[in-house]
Amino acid sequence: MESPHAQIVPSPVFFADAMLGRLARWLRMLGYDTAYDKVIADESLISRVLTEQRWLLTRNRYLVQRKSLRDRHTLIESDHLQAQLQQLRSELHLDLDLSDNTPSRCALCNNILIPIPHEKATSTVPAYVARVHPRFVQCPNCERIYWPGTHWTQMLVRLQELRAS
Ligand SMILES: [Zn+2]
Repeated sequence: MESPHAQIVPSPVFFADAMLGRLARWLRMLGYDTAYDKVIADESLISRVLTEQRWLLTRNRYLVQRKSLRDRHTLIESDHLQAQLQQLRSELHLDLDLSDNTPSRCALCNNILIPIPHEKATSTVPAYVARVHPRFVQCPNCERIYWPGTHWTQMLVRLQELRAS
């Protein structure tokens, strides 16, 4: 079923503040370029948001009072991932669809993941994972291997519920 998007923001790039690590990881796996720095001073954060032309996602209501951040932030209201994604979906019309069912950016370093041959994955991932999953992708930076595992599938189901609501 098609979701009733009024519009889709073209390839938004995000900067998630220190309190939004989990959201940042999920946005990355959903394919959104999301910068995240656990330890960053406010001034450096603002400077990166401006120079890299990113959209700030933050829980900090004092930070967003800065004039330079006006019209380039979303103040995230909830601590819960699902509600956070719901807010981005309704306010930014974020597309939470994941058509090919595989994470597309590294949750840890934001790099675009690259498909790898099945043989390459079998030496690294648990044997049962290698048996049941035909497709694997890998981060060219940290070399972490991803596949659409149980956790991922559960999240996709929840995202689909959000899209249908
Ligand atoms: Zn990585």
